[in-house]
Amino acid sequence: MSGKCKGCGANIEWIVTGNGKRMPVDRAPYLTIVTDDGEVKRGRASHFATCKFADKFRGKGANNAGNRV
Ligand SMILES: [Zn+2]
Repeated sequence: MSGKCKGCGANIEWIVTGNGKRMPVDRAPYLTIVTDDGEVKRGRASHFATCKFADKFRGKGANNAGNRV
């Protein structure tokens, strides 16, 4: 599913992760990464990692246990 980031306006896509959570990723570019286990994978960067405004939407979803700002 594609959309736009509410913070910075970038084009993003929503990917459903293996545990059923939705995560925004940058639409491009595709990156080749190597996991710590030595697996080579192709994918895109989490938009949480690249967005300047990530702080704005952090805490709304998965990760709001005990971390109030
Ligand atoms: Zn953004």
